Amino acid sequence: MLSEEKKREILLEKDICDHCLGRQFAQLGHGLENYERGAIIREKEELDENDFVRENIPEYAETGGECEYCQGVFTRLDHYTDMVIDSFERYELNTFLIGIRPPQQAVKKEEELWEETGVEWTEPLKTELSRLIGKKIEERTGLEVDFERADIMAVIDMRDGKDRVELQVNSLLIYGKYNKYSREIPQTEWPCNNCRGSGCDECDWTGYQYPTSVQQEIQEPFIRETKGIEAKFHGAGREDINVKCLGKREFVLELIEPLNRDLDLKKLQREVNEATDKIEVFDLQFTHSDKPAEIKQKHANKTYRAKIKTEDRITEKDLEKLEGLLGEVEQDTPERVEHRRAEKTRVREVLETDWEYEDEHHLILEVKAEAGTYIKELIHSDEGRTVPSVKGLLGTESECTQLDVIGIDK
Ligand SMILES: [Zn+2]
Ligand SMILES: [Zn+2]
Repeated sequence: MLSEEKKREILLEKDICDHCLGRQFAQLGHGLENYERGAIIREKEELDENDFVRENIPEYAETGGECEYCQGVFTRLDHYTDMVIDSFERYELNTFLIGIRPPQQAVKKEEELWEETGVEWTEPLKTELSRLIGKKIEERTGLEVDFERADIMAVIDMRDGKDRVELQVNSLLIYGKYNKYSREIPQTEWPCNNCRGSGCDECDWTGYQYPTSVQQEIQEPFIRETKGIEAKFHGAGREDINVKCLGKREFVLELIEPLNRDLDLKKLQREVNEATDKIEVFDLQFTHSDKPAEIKQKHANKTYRAKIKTEDRITEKDLEKLEGLLGEVEQDTPERVEHRRAEKTRVREVLETDWEYEDEHHLILEVKAEAGTYIKELIHSDEGRTVPSVKGLLGTESECTQLDVIGIDK
């Protein structure tokens, strides 16, 4: 590693602007811009960390200057700032992030310089540019730089002597909970199995297998208000089409490339709920991009209510055998989902069970079970592939005629 003094000597022999000189010592002193730091280095006889204070900045110090190491980009900071602000015009934003693709020649010269003098105390060209331009944009627009979760990322491409701005518009995410009161709609948009969405006779040229879904019932006003191009729906698990969910299932609605972000969520929630009796949404709030993974990992216990029809006659006394459902259940992957999941035996726990005798062939069963328990199979046994089961315990064919999710643990 070179001494600071040696590094200074080598640099001063080069045709280098104050920005690029100062940037090689960016970690020395506080509250200075690199060109001010560079001007101090040029002025002083030797390098002393105590010299990096405002009083020592020479009068002539100014940002910019032609030089091989930056290709003169610092003379164009306002130009880049204008370009980015113009590109933001269509979007309603609170936060942003700047990315830089510097001129190739500057990158090459910077790498050569680092090989010669090391990278100690330096700030890369990219970092300085994005910092300076980001600050100018903040001052002019009132938007804030956000390194974690910016609404938009503007990449300034300075390569090939052309200046371009590429935008990456980040999704707007809305968290909420839903209930599903229909036994006829899936959770997410379901393109026609026949035409895969392009439209055909079988789907009445709608492109959909089911005319609507929980997703569609929710997303419409959000796409309209944000002018996003589409939405993705992330549910904390899902229920079958013919299953109601009354337990308030968590979801995140992801709006892709929105123009508008300042939504009145209360108003939109009311609009969704007034437009449909198939679903209802609750507790809508803005969230962040980690939330979909978070709610999917939760594996909350769920409580179900099932209407069951038995083949043989049953008595009220028979139902006491249903205590046997409590504890571990072994389930081979059901036939109906086999094409989607690798075949295996999973073990889940039934935590609570309760029942109501209706008549000689009908009962209502309530079970609270671990996430991922196949409830219909827990009832009809899936030809012995789920043990124990209602069918096994009662000793007669048992069919689930109706299923509701009535509770989801927090
Ligand atoms: Zn320079
Ligand atoms: Zn079709």
